[in-house]
Amino acid sequence: MTQNNRPTALIMIFGATGDLARRKLYPSLYRLFTKGKLDRFAVVGVARRSLTNEEFQDNVKESIGSHDHLDESKMDEFASKFYYHSHDVTDSESYSVLKGLAAELDSHYRLDGNRIFYLAMAPEFFGTIAEHLKKDGLTDVEGFKRLVIEKPFGHDLESAKVLNRQIRKAFPENEIYRIDHYLGKEMVQNIEVIRFANSIFEPLWNNRFISNIQITSSEVLGVEERGRYYETSGALRDMVQNHMLQMVALLAMEPPIRLTTEEIRSEKVRVFRALRTVEGSDVNSYFVRGQYGKGKINESDVPAYREQEMVDEASNTETFVAGKLMIDNFRWAGVPFYIRTGKRMEVKSTKIVVEFKEMPMDLYNRQEGSVSPNLLVIHIQPEEGITLHLNAKKGQHSGSTPVKLSYANKGIDGLNTPEAYEKLLYDCLRGDATNFTHWDEVALSWSFVDNISEVWENEKEASFPNYESGSMGPDAAEQLLEKDGFFWWPVTNLDVDKC
Ligand code: NAP
Repeated sequence: MTQNNRPTALIMIFGATGDLARRKLYPSLYRLFTKGKLDRFAVVGVARRSLTNEEFQDNVKESIGSHDHLDESKMDEFASKFYYHSHDVTDSESYSVLKGLAAELDSHYRLDGNRIFYLAMAPEFFGTIAEHLKKDGLTDVEGFKRLVIEKPFGHDLESAKVLNRQIRKAFPENEIYRIDHYLGKEMVQNIEVIRFANSIFEPLWNNRFISNIQITSSEVLGVEERGRYYETSGALRDMVQNHMLQMVALLAMEPPIRLTTEEIRSEKVRVFRALRTVEGSDVNSYFVRGQYGKGKINESDVPAYREQEMVDEASNTETFVAGKLMIDNFRWAGVPFYIRTGKRMEVKSTKIVVEFKEMPMDLYNRQEGSVSPNLLVIHIQPEEGITLHLNAKKGQHSGSTPVKLSYANKGIDGLNTPEAYEKLLYDCLRGDATNFTHWDEVALSWSFVDNISEVWENEKEASFPNYESGSMGPDAAEQLLEKDGFFWWPVTNLDVDKC
């Protein structure tokens, strides 16, 4: 498909007064607008509360105000294209009014009948909205129509299938854009470039040269006011099923024959198909779960998960997961991919550490600690960059010393890289679905994760809470690697700044 780099569309945001719309969508659209990346467009915001167009436009301006250096006249021009429709999405009557408004804006702004429907709402509404959009004629347009949906896409494989059937009645797969905002992050997108544009890495990218790969995504924040949602989710569903497995797929996939959506997605699907199933009694040897207790963050006392709002005081929900994933194919046989993610950890950090095998001969006396394995560290957030850990001679002494070659994305370019949502919205407007998850990826990742949640839900974890807030997780997560002869590279020592 040829992609128009200055797309035209009517963007309908369901859940227009919500947190996601305010914090991410409006600022991202504004940035696209100020960068000249949008041609003709208008936005219809939908939510239940009653607002005038002017009140809605003021809210939009306010949400952007705190994010960007403002140009008042640009901002007014931008906000003037926002319209509000008060509407309960479960109310069948109201869709015809919405249809009329959409048609009016389409003709007023000459939007070529292009429509994006962005569902920034709780997932229980996704099916109903999609069905109504079709039944009530909002999808009968001359131009393109695309449905964007937020996570979570289901709660397990069964519920994801039900949801998928519902939305597929209204939108074919190629019109569905399932957001995984990790796929919009600059350095996650960079994984492919690092791998496939550098001849020094790709020949080494296999079980002959790599000993293990570690992916950490740690948060300092606790569950905050999301206790009700989190109790039904936990870290496995909230982070592993989507973001962590997506990063594994990008690291492990074969080079695609072309950089097209279909080819990249099909290589990622092949990784999911090669993931070793972990089920039954194996679950607790491949995976570790944790729940935070009280502790200190930045010198202040913070409560345990079980003491948080809307959380059961005997909750069995995990706020931390560490796991060992094996990809049973020719390239990766025998190489563990370790993942860990959790809340209330020591630092906020998302990093990938690729650890290379050691040299066959110990010429420079590894025992004395002067030689370290080569590491390629991909810093995803908060800092963005790449560090290559090598060994070299340094100074007077004749031995070897670890040295680091570092590329800090933000530091060098002097520009902030675009936010994940900005990139994903732009991709969707241009019809590029590469960085969105295909149903096959969703289904395979749920079936992998369901085997683990089945065991954990049926076995209460007696040791909860098992890690202190402000730590890097339970001891068992360290032991998971120790029994294979590895250890977690401490993420705090790997920062780009510390190189
Ligand atoms: P939120 O703050 O609770 O907002 C929900 C929105 O839905 C509000 O605008 C609400 O407005 C509207 N709404 C609720 N019931 C409605 C109904 N029956 N008819 C019409 N509108 C209705 O939620 P959120 O945090 O923005 O999250 C939205 C979605 O994004 C969820 O699926 C969430 O899991 C996902 N997500 C959010 C974030 C984030 O950073 N917030 C990140 C990743 C994914 P009214 O009350 O006025 O109706």
